[in-house]
Amino acid sequence: MAPQPRTITRTDPSRIEFEWDNGEKTVLSAIELRSMCPCAACVDELSGVRRHNPASVPPDLVHRDVRLVGNYAITLMFSDGHSTGIYPFPMLWEHGRRA
Ligand SMILES: [Zn+2]
Repeated sequence: MAPQPRTITRTDPSRIEFEWDNGEKTVLSAIELRSMCPCAACVDELSGVRRHNPASVPPDLVHRDVRLVGNYAITLMFSDGHSTGIYPFPMLWEHGRRA
């Protein structure tokens, strides 16, 4: 079971810090989050193959807004205009640990 986030903090426009209920902290950059976007425009729903090229993410990408989706995910508005991704907490936990 993945832990639940206790706090989600935009430490600056390009970083989000997660504090988890197991006491660990992880940090993900806007670029990492944009590169792992799981929405249907970025990942083929049937094959799971990534259609979005992470190399196309601008190096100065920031997030403009972060919102909770129910109690299981967050959604992000990026400065490249993309905002359709829903990031479930377990995915954020796994990526944060690998980062
Ligand atoms: Zn996407």
